Amino acid sequence: MTGSVFVSRPHNKCGVTMVKWGKIMTDIEQFTSDTIALLTKLVSFDSVSRNSNLPIIDYIEGYLKDHGAVCARAPSPDGKKSNLLARIGPEVAGGVVFSGHTDVVPIDGQDWASDPFTVIEKDEKLFGRGTSDMKCFIAICMALTPKLVAMALEKPVWFAFSYDEEVGCLGAPHLLDYMVKHVPLPAFAVIGEPTMMQVVTAHKGVVSFETTVHGLEWHSSQPHLGVNAIQISCELIHMLMGIAKELEDGDMRDERFNPPYSTVHVGTIHGGTARNIIPKECKFQWEIRPLPGENYEKLVDRFKKRCAELLAGMKKKFAGAEIINLPMSHMSGVTLQASANANCQTVMRCAQTNREVAVSFGTEAGVFNDHGIPAIICGPGNIEQAHKPNEFIELSQVRAGVEFMLRLTSDPSLFKK
Ligand SMILES: [Zn+2]
Repeated sequence: MTGSVFVSRPHNKCGVTMVKWGKIMTDIEQFTSDTIALLTKLVSFDSVSRNSNLPIIDYIEGYLKDHGAVCARAPSPDGKKSNLLARIGPEVAGGVVFSGHTDVVPIDGQDWASDPFTVIEKDEKLFGRGTSDMKCFIAICMALTPKLVAMALEKPVWFAFSYDEEVGCLGAPHLLDYMVKHVPLPAFAVIGEPTMMQVVTAHKGVVSFETTVHGLEWHSSQPHLGVNAIQISCELIHMLMGIAKELEDGDMRDERFNPPYSTVHVGTIHGGTARNIIPKECKFQWEIRPLPGENYEKLVDRFKKRCAELLAGMKKKFAGAEIINLPMSHMSGVTLQASANANCQTVMRCAQTNREVAVSFGTEAGVFNDHGIPAIICGPGNIEQAHKPNEFIELSQVRAGVEFMLRLTSDPSLFKK
């Protein structure tokens, strides 16, 4: 990997260039080793989504402030968690926001060969929960901070570090609301989710709900007197499956995805107490994975309309009947065309690729897009290792991430007026 950074840069044999070259290589080594030290510290915080992320936010904020970044928090409504927004450079429109989430998925029931919250190095890999997804990217942002502060940028670098990404992108909307209200917006966002440094310009969204049907319990010999929550749920699920079939057979296709249409899926269902009791409650969780541009709100509205119709019938028998739709996640799909977006081309150049990739996992990119900040996903590590026991990041990926960020943050097209 060494030397790959400036492969396209003309470097003749003159002494000046060689000195500069040597300096750049030292920089890469130094930033990579700083990143590993910071990553080790970040992994030591048990920031599984069910826990408060305030300890890790305190640490990151303290570090960034100490090195000269300007920080602000956008807390969760209950104040138990927080997003962190940091700025380096002037408070003007433009520049880039680098986004990462501070939470990680649980380790429960997973068979780890080492302590998940202690980074260990083995076979050119760093093992630990969150090494790939996505504390390494945050560590790179932190490692580069002193250099960025010293650069006298004419347009800002922003860091946007969120909470609760892993449980449905719950934190990022508060962060983006804060940004829209309080700061001049950056030109675009780079979401550092693990893509093996490929440039991802499209992914499907994830819009999910838990639907709970409350009916009336009764003896099963008189079904006409109870309100069967399982039966109502089945009608609703049947309807969802009808929508799924329509989408599969419909005209809206995007061949970059597998499958190339929006999907609907029911993942869990729980209800009833015994065979001979009319069930009073049934709960099911379902999702839509919309293609970028799919009008999923219309689909959700159709579902809610059907809920209202069924509920009206239920209430005739039992005034206390309810159907409750609890939103669980809300991520739109995203798509950018590099051919139509100069910033996207810059990111591809800095990632040294000429390929745009579509992925099937959702990210916070949709939230940025929905708030008027076009987003691209590109970061170190492999999504294959994320969420699994013995999660790791290859040292070569740490280095590739550092090189990418060094190239991007020195690109004059982004940070000069
Ligand atoms: Zn992630």
